[in-house]
Amino acid sequence: MIRPSIQAMSGYVSGEQPAPGAKVIKLNTNENPYPCSPRVLTAIREAMAGGLQKYPDPLATAFRMRAGDVLGIDPDWIQCGNGSDDILTILIRAFVGAQDGIRYAYPGYILYRTLAQIQEATVDEWKFRSDWTLDDAFATANSRLRLAFLANPNSPSGTVIPANRVFELADALPCPLVVDEAYADFAETNCLRLVAENEKIIVTRTLSKSYALAGLRFGFVIAQPRIIEQLAKIKDSYNCDILSIAGATAAMDDQGWLIENRQAILATRDRLVLRFRDLGFETPPSQANFIWATRTDRPVRPIYEQLKRDGVLVRYLDYAGWGDGLRISVGTDSQIDALLALVEGMVS
Ligand SMILES: *Cc1c(COP(=O)(O)O)cnc(C)c1O
Repeated sequence: MIRPSIQAMSGYVSGEQPAPGAKVIKLNTNENPYPCSPRVLTAIREAMAGGLQKYPDPLATAFRMRAGDVLGIDPDWIQCGNGSDDILTILIRAFVGAQDGIRYAYPGYILYRTLAQIQEATVDEWKFRSDWTLDDAFATANSRLRLAFLANPNSPSGTVIPANRVFELADALPCPLVVDEAYADFAETNCLRLVAENEKIIVTRTLSKSYALAGLRFGFVIAQPRIIEQLAKIKDSYNCDILSIAGATAAMDDQGWLIENRQAILATRDRLVLRFRDLGFETPPSQANFIWATRTDRPVRPIYEQLKRDGVLVRYLDYAGWGDGLRISVGTDSQIDALLALVEGMVS
């Protein structure tokens, strides 16, 4: 009795999560390798001390005020979610009905396809050029198209489409463009300011990666208030709980932590990229906390498999019509040293 469209879909497959306590170096889901700001844990403990018998603030006002200050935007332009995946679900439910269409830049974040399938919408995967740029035709209208997605920085490549180019594409599209900025805190630029310039531009953010809070589940969307008002009708009333609102607000408050963490990750990433290129991998320039590595002289899947046997988990991804590669999250320096020692043994 399950809808045929649900039975037909395969469902989103997330990166492996080894059992807690397993001795694995986990570089496969772009989590931050460092613990979050200690202020987050203090704020959660304080919130807990107040008890949990009451419902949370449905609008997560404390967070929106703090994030608004930090990012220089009006809190009325922000809606919060149970991770940015929740935000993506809300957006697709708002704009896309059965038989409507979505478009996304490909290879990109696979969840967009899953969300469209649940909605019984059609998907149009628009391929990046080989240098991870997008041609003008990404913005071509068709009668079904209701929403477009661009992860920026993109996953799995880590590459960035510059804001002026995003603006051009969004302006030419017949529908809104969701710029999924899950990794923007690691990048040199972002598209936040474009939201005020064009109502069709909607930016999503998460605290999972740059704030080291994947386990807390907190994300948000920045859009013009006319859109936020509509999204508010769709979200679960209490989609963020008291503990996550307290923790996320404290995380936003500790921008010093963010700056230091970012510096550490970027330094390790740049070292990883240089060494991987020396070892014969091709890696496009990453502005995220992971790299995408391919090779032409031999298959990379056996490298992933051998690493797994040796206790280092990276993500092997094979994109139909594009090819495969390894997506490797930037860990701590010692994690990356361990990875490099193993890879050097395999390829040199
Ligand atoms: C990790 C990720 C997300 C999801 O983040 P959550 O807030 O943990 O749900 C969204 N988009 C992209 C591109 C991601 O890599």
